[in-house]
Amino acid sequence: MAEEKRQFQAEVGKLLDIVVHSLYSNKEIFLRELISNASDSCDRLRYAAITEPELLAGEGEFQIRLIPDPQAGTLTIIDNGLGMNHDEVIANLGTIAKSGTSEFLSRLTGDSKKDVSLIGQFGVGFYSAFMVAGEVTVVTRKAGDAMGWRWTSDGKGEFTVAEAPDAARGAAITLTLRDGEKEFAEAVRLKAIVKRYSDHIAIPVKLKDGDKDEESINSANALWTRSKSEISPEQYKEFYHHVAHAFDEPWATLHYKAEGAIEYTGLLFVPSSKPLDIFHPDRKQHVKLYVRRVFITDDCEELLPPYLRFVRGVVDSQDLPLNVSREMLQHNPVLSKIRSGLVKRVLGELKKKAEDADGNYAAFWEVFGAVLKEGIYEDFERRNDILELCRFRSTHGDGLVTLAEYVGRMKEGQEAIYTITGDDLTQLKRSPQLEGFIAKGVEVLLLTDPIDEFWVSAIPNYMDKELRSVTAAGDDLGKVKAPEGAADARADEAPAAEVATLIAALKLALGDKVKDVRGSERLTESAVCLVADSGDMSMHLEKLLRAHGQAAGERVRILEINPRHALIKGLAARVTAAGTNPLIEDMAALLLDQARIVEGEPPADPVGFARRMVSVMEKGLI
Ligand code: ADP
Ligand code: MG
Repeated sequence: MAEEKRQFQAEVGKLLDIVVHSLYSNKEIFLRELISNASDSCDRLRYAAITEPELLAGEGEFQIRLIPDPQAGTLTIIDNGLGMNHDEVIANLGTIAKSGTSEFLSRLTGDSKKDVSLIGQFGVGFYSAFMVAGEVTVVTRKAGDAMGWRWTSDGKGEFTVAEAPDAARGAAITLTLRDGEKEFAEAVRLKAIVKRYSDHIAIPVKLKDGDKDEESINSANALWTRSKSEISPEQYKEFYHHVAHAFDEPWATLHYKAEGAIEYTGLLFVPSSKPLDIFHPDRKQHVKLYVRRVFITDDCEELLPPYLRFVRGVVDSQDLPLNVSREMLQHNPVLSKIRSGLVKRVLGELKKKAEDADGNYAAFWEVFGAVLKEGIYEDFERRNDILELCRFRSTHGDGLVTLAEYVGRMKEGQEAIYTITGDDLTQLKRSPQLEGFIAKGVEVLLLTDPIDEFWVSAIPNYMDKELRSVTAAGDDLGKVKAPEGAADARADEAPAAEVATLIAALKLALGDKVKDVRGSERLTESAVCLVADSGDMSMHLEKLLRAHGQAAGERVRILEINPRHALIKGLAARVTAAGTNPLIEDMAALLLDQARIVEGEPPADPVGFARRMVSVMEKGLI
């Protein structure tokens, strides 16, 4: 077969351009990336060989070899892992398959400084070789295959693939170092880099320094099998980068050995920045499962519940059989015990950090709170533990509050924990729905994650207090004792009979555009607001469902009017005196539209709205 020439996927082309032209600092990390790939590849072959020992063809000692050639200005990294076949070479070294890639690339600005820091979080893996190399050649043969492949590229848009009949099992990656990067062909430099970034790799990394004998330059034992006291924070961090394919600082590191009925070692991390795919529908579970130090899978859904999918790391079991298959992992009793052990540990660690003033829990919460909250309705058994880990914005100051703090501040006569949901914190804080609560000093939780709509309606109560949306709070406020010295709001109201007349006139004018019209307890500043009938879907949820293309329809709402507002008082007096008012039709429509706008909904009929608005304004001029 002749040499094939191919284009990189457009995204890769973009990425390579930045890698070659803008990434100047920390170039040495290319070696960490290539060694990490080599080690992953050996892990995968080791696992495949459990059921197909012939794949090893007698070569069962895995190793990664570094062969620098200072004269030629090249560095070759060789592994005897699984290797790649023709199609895998093209797919893996010509495209980016990671979920979240397109989102990531859409965030690239073209401003190299900003882009570089983004790439720092994303990682460029194999492509980082082009930071130091003008040309990269990969010669690879997949275990079990007869034919190997040679992949070559200068990183400028194209690569070639050709047959390589002599390729050894695994992959040999040769970098032709650019001028100015020849230091990466020096043994001393390579040793230092491996010590720094790849010491924890469980497979020996060997260096061939000129005529000297090849020597191992890493510790080559699985990091999690060492005792905690022997591992430095730096080593934990490097291991996290390797195992999670991440580039941030771990926010939390958890390393323990479970002993007793089920034995396993866990080395778990909570990242400090949000992984790109955390809300992606195809997201994977990211804790790697090992059995007695043999890698089994990095996609074992049974290992952790989805609400802890931000956790990264390794679990190494003593009790699962080595030849465990993915099917066997489903409904496996050992695995389900490991799972509950892991959940308990992770939640315990979160609790510890939450209670520790230096734990920087708020930083975790901002990044992963929305994920953890899924546990409130997914994990019935631990609902209370999870609720206690939750933090909320509220009308009480700008900080984060706990439910326990909220309950401790509840007012005399207050029946429920009040919540309001919306998309935007600033907008929510100004919602007319809150006016009465703020006036009475009743705290309201301000919920802005889409998930909030779902768990709030799923949990019956916390510490015997019901969670209730302010939009469904009916006359709750009447039962709360007014603060000392507050004026009686009712003294200022329009007479009840006039309000009743106005309500009747509004109902007539609005017809089936509203479910009801009634006087409001909750409004103090605004003239009107819309509320959902108790039992109806909240307005915010309806909007969310519509935004996700689900036909939620649009439910008819209740219009509440504020009998203490000057406009409503005036209108009530007029309508009562005149029996009717020629303006009432327009006024009613304007009041309803105004209430919709405050909820973030457009007026039902924008042209009609503008016309009425102009007409009322004209009258104001006379
Ligand atoms: P990642 O390691 O995060 O998947 P990389 O860009 O580092 O991303 O590598 C892309 C893919 O190329 C890997 O997922 C793997 O399938 C393949 N690959 C890279 N290096 C090797 C290797 N030495 N042996 C076998 N496959 C490899
Ligand atoms: Mg990689």
